Amino acid sequence: MNATRMISFVIPVLNEQDSLEPLYEAVTRSVESLASAYEMIFIDDGSTDRSIAVLQELYARDREHVRVIQFRRNFGKTAALAAGFAHARGEVVVTLDADLQDDPAELPKLLAKLEEGYDLVGAWRVDRQDPISKRWPSRLANATVSALTGIRLHDLNCGFKVYRREVVQDLKLYGELHRYIPVLAHWKGYRIAEVPVTHHPRRFGRSKYGLQRLVRSYIDFLSVLFLTTYLKRPMHLFGTLGSLFALVGAVIMIYLAALWVIEGGIGWRPLLFFGITALVVGIQLISVGLLGEMLRHTTFRADEEYSIRQVWDDHQGG
Ligand code: UDP
Ligand code: MG
Repeated sequence: MNATRMISFVIPVLNEQDSLEPLYEAVTRSVESLASAYEMIFIDDGSTDRSIAVLQELYARDREHVRVIQFRRNFGKTAALAAGFAHARGEVVVTLDADLQDDPAELPKLLAKLEEGYDLVGAWRVDRQDPISKRWPSRLANATVSALTGIRLHDLNCGFKVYRREVVQDLKLYGELHRYIPVLAHWKGYRIAEVPVTHHPRRFGRSKYGLQRLVRSYIDFLSVLFLTTYLKRPMHLFGTLGSLFALVGAVIMIYLAALWVIEGGIGWRPLLFFGITALVVGIQLISVGLLGEMLRHTTFRADEEYSIRQVWDDHQGG
């Protein structure tokens, strides 16, 4: 690791009063030999315990390295990360959960991988210390996502990740999309890798995510799939599906019309209902696709159509 680089730690905090002090110590211990400059940005995401008081103490003790951002209320982990990213000054950004489950002592491994030429390196909790109710759904989700997106990662949603600065600046995070950061980054062409790390059980406080997380992450996955595939060409999805339905519907109706002319009276055949439904659904889908294209057209921004790694141009100003 190039020692002149600055590292920014981005740490979202919701009711983690007892973990913050040991976390601060552990991060300080691990980073001192790794970078000449670093900052720890703590984002207090509407904590109702003593977290903000502890953070203020840390700030008073170490103003050079500690920064604290306090939200007015709980906006969620995605918002906390986005705020941290917006404030980060380092060339390398490290995200870390505040609950001590990830071990900052593993940082050198992740940084070494980044140095190999990756843009984002995630921690892979090989022996994850969380309840089964969390591990199995997560395993299923990781397998599904990697099958559908082509990203070969075992652990997408670990809070411990290191990024090159340009990645976090290039991410549009809202809702609860932090779970799919690697998918969004991969889609933009960033190089992604992961490194196995040790994982610890939660020592203080409790997990902020219960079962509703399952439903939400499924819905978010649908959004992410759409965002990374058809957002930029809605007609390819809706137009194709819609035309298929409409075609099937039209063929059926023509067939029934012919039957009606030849034999007279087609009655209430199930096929009639199917034909009508297919036609209507097809036309609806095409209309939705057209609306999508109109939105796409009016919100078009040339600089969001691609993501540039580097430019060689002798005539560029500077
Ligand atoms: N967190 C947050 N805002 C929230 C929920 C969680 O900032 O609305 C933080 C939390 O303090 C922790 C990290 O996000 O630092 C991960 O949360 P948690 O450990 O509860 O999730 P789990 O590891 O159980 O999935
Ligand atoms: Mg945790």
